[in-house]
Amino acid sequence: MKVLKFGGTSVGSAERMKQVAKLIMNGEKNLVVLSAMSGTTNSLVEIADYFYKNNTAGALEKINMLEHQYTDVINELYEKTEYKTKSTEIVHSIFDYLRSFSKHVFTIFEEKAILAQGELLSTNMFQLYLEEIGANSALLPALDYMRIDKNNEPDTAFITENLNSILVENPGKDIYITQGYICRNFYGEIDNLQRGGSDYSASLIGAAIKAKEIQIWTDIDGMHNNDPRYVEGTKPVPMLHFEEAAELAYFGAKILHPTCILPAKLHNIPVRLLNTMDPSAPGTLISNKRVKGIIEAVAAKDGITAIKIKSGHMLLAYGFLRKVFEIFESNQTPIDMITTSEVGVSVTIDNKRKLNEIVDDLKKFGTVTVDEDMVIICVVGDLEYELVGFQAKVINALKDIPVRMISYGGSNYNISLLIKAEDKKKALNLLSEAIFD
Ligand code: ASP
Ligand code: MG
Repeated sequence: MKVLKFGGTSVGSAERMKQVAKLIMNGEKNLVVLSAMSGTTNSLVEIADYFYKNNTAGALEKINMLEHQYTDVINELYEKTEYKTKSTEIVHSIFDYLRSFSKHVFTIFEEKAILAQGELLSTNMFQLYLEEIGANSALLPALDYMRIDKNNEPDTAFITENLNSILVENPGKDIYITQGYICRNFYGEIDNLQRGGSDYSASLIGAAIKAKEIQIWTDIDGMHNNDPRYVEGTKPVPMLHFEEAAELAYFGAKILHPTCILPAKLHNIPVRLLNTMDPSAPGTLISNKRVKGIIEAVAAKDGITAIKIKSGHMLLAYGFLRKVFEIFESNQTPIDMITTSEVGVSVTIDNKRKLNEIVDDLKKFGTVTVDEDMVIICVVGDLEYELVGFQAKVINALKDIPVRMISYGGSNYNISLLIKAEDKKKALNLLSEAIFD
């Protein structure tokens, strides 16, 4: 069986849902994970916010507006009155449930219950559509098998056992539909895998059923070799190693949620990124296979701050780095890039919330310099150190751009360079010319 995940835009209208139905009825057995229709989760967040603020009228107005949108989708999606009626009943009961929160004390538990309704709406409507067109399908409730533990980490043993027994209870189907994003927590309450978590659901499900492949369907034709917003003529990368994809996911390649990669990687299940708008395009295949000696992609991450600590005490001393890192740890700020010399260390952070506290603490150990508004440029590929020439290619491409930090060797998959934000577009273009043209 394959796992096919469709994001919010892929199920964002009646027409898109019909397109998804065509894609999944391909003669294979598929387990289909759906997000909420695009915009719905954001609306639910807003509705919860009105309830928090005790503005019941505001919440009800938003709920009614959203329900109207769904009424339009229902009218377009189904042919037969019977299915329009059935779907209206389910959808209406979900909206009535949302309205019922006006009588509650409103806490984070109620909010999570509200956030779960988007996926319940999309999957119920879609399952009814499949019934209408005569597909052999069943709806598997994610709240019956998807669970996180006390540390908010997926309870993979529970997920595997329960999902497989639900599949056994629903034998002989060609298509199984289920909700992404939503789950229960350790206490059995409704919870979720964080915004954008449907990719994670798909990956966890793929691992639990030992799927042949996990497909992530979006509206882009795979991961591109550079940022199409800044560089013309970028191309989808045909094949990536999981490690390369993980590097790129951090660097803003938003089509794949970073957490999604891990369960698939551990269970050696290939992940294919495909485009709903252009289904025959090859997309990007992410697996444990690597393409030898090739630079695959360039990406950039904005909003980076570099901090340099210089100290005579660092020379030949041990324990200096620990003291520096402890300051970031106690200020709950992750470090991204690090470069060192005998008398100093530079690090980057992408969260400036505690910058003042961090700088104050660091001043106890040395002279501190801060550079804000920086960008990390990341070159990703199979950059095994025994291969020669790739560093020279990268550095040479950027020979006219001031580079604040360079990092290579943390993994064999990337070279990171820190530059000023104003040089980003130029750097991305120069790298594309030097590497891909
Ligand atoms: N519907 C959820 C969200 O918008 C989950 C997802 O789309 O992956 O965050
Ligand atoms: Mg999404």
